[in-house]
Amino acid sequence: FTSRLPNVGTTIFTVMSALAQQRGAVNLGQGFPDFDADPALLDAVSAPLHGGLNQYAPMAGIPELREAVARKVADCYGRSYDPGREITITAGATQAILTAVLAFVHPGDEVIVLDPCYDSYDPAVTMAGGVPVHVKLAAGTFAPDFDAIAAALSPRTRAIVVNSPHNPSGTVWSAADMQRLEDLLAPTDVLVISDEVYEHMVYDGAAHQSVARFAGLAERSVLISSFGKTYHVTGWKIGYAVAPAALMDEFRKVHQFNVFCVNTPMQHGLARYMAEPRHHLELPAFYQHKRDLFRAGLARTRLVPLPSAGTYFQCVDYRAVSDLDEVAFCRWLTEHIGVAAIPLAPFYADAFEQQIVRLCFAKRDETLQLALDRLAAL
Ligand code: PMP
Ligand code: GLN
Repeated sequence: FTSRLPNVGTTIFTVMSALAQQRGAVNLGQGFPDFDADPALLDAVSAPLHGGLNQYAPMAGIPELREAVARKVADCYGRSYDPGREITITAGATQAILTAVLAFVHPGDEVIVLDPCYDSYDPAVTMAGGVPVHVKLAAGTFAPDFDAIAAALSPRTRAIVVNSPHNPSGTVWSAADMQRLEDLLAPTDVLVISDEVYEHMVYDGAAHQSVARFAGLAERSVLISSFGKTYHVTGWKIGYAVAPAALMDEFRKVHQFNVFCVNTPMQHGLARYMAEPRHHLELPAFYQHKRDLFRAGLARTRLVPLPSAGTYFQCVDYRAVSDLDEVAFCRWLTEHIGVAAIPLAPFYADAFEQQIVRLCFAKRDETLQLALDRLAAL
């Protein structure tokens, strides 16, 4: 056989988590909380688990959870989606992204991805036989470069993947950015795959600008999110996709023969837990405390923090500390300082070097303090 993904190896997240564990380092690399979920969520899930709700769910997800997602999207972003036809529960955002790509991208179609980007986008496009077209976000600010995006559009462009709040940079697209995307795509039939997994982690009073807020984007978008991020349960791998019926019909055809349906008791538990909007509305304050604590602590180090307007990631420039390239610096930091980080270069198709690494602050305050004490020794 020939490899479908000849250039793919073990992901940097796996590599750095393994090294962190081996060296006993504080793991601020791979993005996941080191604290447990709300006991109320664990109770909400264990009731259906012990209550006989352990067989296949409906293909698109249980109605109660789809209705809860519809309510949340309407409350947060002011757009009504039909839970019957326009919302599907998925095995995390990663499966939703792959499913959306497989549903709409045909061999030879181009898909614009904005580097640095989450590492599943490019392989998803490649697996569909599509051609990823990588466009860099602006150097320094990681803002969308609409001239570069416009230049990358071609008659073969089938879709663009956008991700705000953005992993790894922590930048957040403004309403003006979304408006520009809407205007740019208006004369085209390009679809938007909108990865909004960090939708509830936006700080300093700013609002998340979902594609659902913009009529001209919503009509061409698959909005994807993940309960793993919002409820501190990355290991559950449950998320959802939201799209107008014509798009969702196609999405479901692929979903049906990809996973058919996802974990039933978790869906029931999540539906109950979502009935309380404060469970997602409290998230910005919860993480802003951690971001502020972490950034204040970084002032004691020689690392230079970049802005972090959203997500649970804080990027730092380490030029004052080391000449190593990003991957080598992350290894050195893990082995010699005892803090694991993630290099940005692997998030670029061309392994672009900026001497910037990503640190995850979804950690207990004590964990952040321990990491900061170590980083202060740099
Ligand atoms: N997109 C982005 C931008 C992410 O950071 C992540 C989490 N690693 C995912 C998608 C995947 O989410 P899930 O774990 O629900 O598949
Ligand atoms: N999204 C997580 C991160 O960026 C990693 C998820 C994974 O390991 N695939 O750290």
